Amino acid sequence: MKNKTPTTQLEVKTVLNEIQRFVGFVYQSVRMLGSGSSLRLEVKIEPHRTIRGKCAKCLKPSPGYDRVPERRWLFVPMWGIIVHFFYAARRVECSEHGVGVEHIPWNQGKRPVTTAMMGFLARWARRLSWRETARTFQTSWESVYYSVEWFVSWGLAHRQLEAVHSLGIDEIHWGQGKRADQFLTVIYQIDANCRRLLWVGRRRTKATLRRGLKELGPQVLNSLRYVCSDMWQPYLAVIAKQPGHALHILDRSHIVKHLNKAVDEVRRAESTRLRGKPLAAKLKKMRWKLLRKGSRVLGKARIKLYGLLESKMATGRAWEFKEAFDHFWAYKTSWWAGAFLDSWTKRVMRSRLEPMKRVARMLRKHEGLLLNWFEAKGQVSSGVVEGLNNKIRVVTRRSYGFRTYKAMELALYHNLGKLPEPEDTHRFC
Ligand SMILES: [Zn+2]
Repeated sequence: MKNKTPTTQLEVKTVLNEIQRFVGFVYQSVRMLGSGSSLRLEVKIEPHRTIRGKCAKCLKPSPGYDRVPERRWLFVPMWGIIVHFFYAARRVECSEHGVGVEHIPWNQGKRPVTTAMMGFLARWARRLSWRETARTFQTSWESVYYSVEWFVSWGLAHRQLEAVHSLGIDEIHWGQGKRADQFLTVIYQIDANCRRLLWVGRRRTKATLRRGLKELGPQVLNSLRYVCSDMWQPYLAVIAKQPGHALHILDRSHIVKHLNKAVDEVRRAESTRLRGKPLAAKLKKMRWKLLRKGSRVLGKARIKLYGLLESKMATGRAWEFKEAFDHFWAYKTSWWAGAFLDSWTKRVMRSRLEPMKRVARMLRKHEGLLLNWFEAKGQVSSGVVEGLNNKIRVVTRRSYGFRTYKAMELALYHNLGKLPEPEDTHRFC
C-alpha cells in the first residue's frame, strides 16, 4: 500500500513503486536476509488481483491457466546490498497464441537479471572494464557480458541509418600476432554531424567488406556520396564494384603513413651502411623528428634537421620528398594537383631511394582516386577515420579482459556505435 502521509515510515516497497512500477504487478513483500557481506534483499512480486496477465507474443490480456515455478532475477543493488526479485509467472491462454508464459516486463528471455539491472551494468561497462564492473556490483563477468549484449542488440535494432552520406572504411589490427584473424574491418559514418562505428567484422578480405556493406543494407548504400578508404587492394576492389554514384577517395592520413614508413626505411638502411661511424648514431636519434611534419619540428631539433638536409645524405633527401608532397593537399583543383603529382613522382623515380619510389609508383597507380580528394574537398575532412581508429584502439587495448572476438565486437559497438538506449522509468546511473 502506498502511503505518503508524513507520519508513515518510508518502506522499501514505496521506493520500488516510485522507481519501477509495473502495471499489473504488485510488490508483495521485502525481506532482508543474511548479514555482513552476505546481506541481501528479497522482493516478492505477485500479480495484481484484478488485472489479467498478458500474452508474451501479442501483449493481449488473456485468461490465466496455471503458474510456473518461482524464478529469481537480480535487480539494481541498493546501498551496496544485493537485491533479488522473486516471482512465479502465470501461464495464460491467448486466443491466438495458445497457452504460454505471460509477458514479464522486467524479464529478458532466460536471463536471471532484470532489464533495469542489465541497463545499469551495461552503462557502467562503458566507464569501467567489464571485470571491474562485475566486481564492483558483486556479479559475474558473464552477467556483464550478457547485459552489454542485450543493450547493444537493442541499440542496433533501433538505430537510424537514414542520411548516411560518407563512409570511412579501414582495417585495424588487434591482439597479438599477425594472423588473418587478428585484423578487423571497420565501417564508420564520417559525416560532420554524425561520426560513429556502423559495422565491424573479422578479417580484412573482400568477403568481409562485402558482408559489411550488405548488412548495412541498400538504404545506406543508396544515400552514399563519399567513401573514404586506404589503398588496401581488397577494399579498393569491392568499392569499385559498388553500384551508385558515391565518390571514392583515399584517406590522407594513410598516404602520410606510407610516406613516413618509406623515410624510415631509407634511414634504417643508411644507418646500417654507416655502422660504426658517428653519423649512424645521429641518424638513430633523428627518427621521430623525421616522421613529424617539418613545420612542427622547432628549435634545436630544427637546426639538426637542416644539418641533415645539407649533408646530402639519403635520409635527408627522402625526408625532403616526403615534405614536398604535403603541398599536394593544398591545391584547389584536381588539374593542378595532378600536374604536381606528375612532377613529384618523376623526381622521386629519378632518385635512388627505393622505398620512396615504391610509394611514388603506388600513388601513380591510384592517381584517379587520389585526385577525387579535390572533388570532395570540404565535404570529407581528413583525419576523421584516424581519430575513430584511435578510439577503437583504446577499447581493444582495454580488451585483455575480453575473452572472445564477440565480446570485443560488442564493446566496440557499445562504445563507438552511438546506439540508442532502452528507456527505463528511472535512470539508475
Ligand atoms: Zn497472443
